Amino acid sequence: MSFDTALQIVHDTLAQLHDRGVELRASATTLERLAESPAASESFAAESKAARLAELRPPVLACTKCPHLVASRTQVVFGVGNPDAEVMFVGEAPGEDEDRQGEPFVGKAGQLLTKIIETMGFARGDVYIANVLKCRPDMPPGESGNRKPRPAEMQTCLPYLRQQIEIIEPRALVALGATAMEGLLGEVSPMNRLRGRWHEFNGIPLMATYHPAYLLRNQALSEKRKVWEDMLMVLEKLDRPISERQRNFFLPK
Ligand code: SF4
Repeated sequence: MSFDTALQIVHDTLAQLHDRGVELRASATTLERLAESPAASESFAAESKAARLAELRPPVLACTKCPHLVASRTQVVFGVGNPDAEVMFVGEAPGEDEDRQGEPFVGKAGQLLTKIIETMGFARGDVYIANVLKCRPDMPPGESGNRKPRPAEMQTCLPYLRQQIEIIEPRALVALGATAMEGLLGEVSPMNRLRGRWHEFNGIPLMATYHPAYLLRNQALSEKRKVWEDMLMVLEKLDRPISERQRNFFLPK
């Protein structure tokens, strides 16, 4: 057992005793020192982020700023994942599946995003996934499918995403699709001009890449490789190890 792990166990035990009302004999200085150990401070930071996200969730779930979306939504799709994530994936808006299940990226495109995340060496639960717009864009009566969120809708909802990003403090953001980039930066540009280079949102490096739905429509190896090259840049930014095999994914044989 490492020293930090041992300290963490001691600290957690003291905290539990404190919660149960047991009088603590440890001095304030001792508790401060415990809290200053790297493992303990990381754990505190993660717990505080989880608590702040939990605090933000109820007002977002009850939001009625867009009456037309409130009238058509099944539920607000807040976001999902690790409150202490190193990387955060941002899409444009919930679709039909997400609106029904209350989680972003759960349909076919979501399954592909999960595969991309796993190919990067993460579990889906290691990262955080959210949309710029938290409610599904309404469809004209009698029409099914999903529509793009309007710029005004995204601007109305953006403060929630901004708060999520400020709480999570990821080391990198990935915008999935040109509409998500438009929602984040307010700029309209085709993805072939946006991807493959770093942008910035709130001081955090932001990579743009194609939405997984685009890859479902266009299965060409060259398009998969473009997305993968963007993800390799993200892994480099995060100082994650990259195997030779990973580097060569989706290259022509
Ligand atoms: S889209 Fe965002 S701002 Fe509009 S009602 Fe839903 S949560 Fe509120």
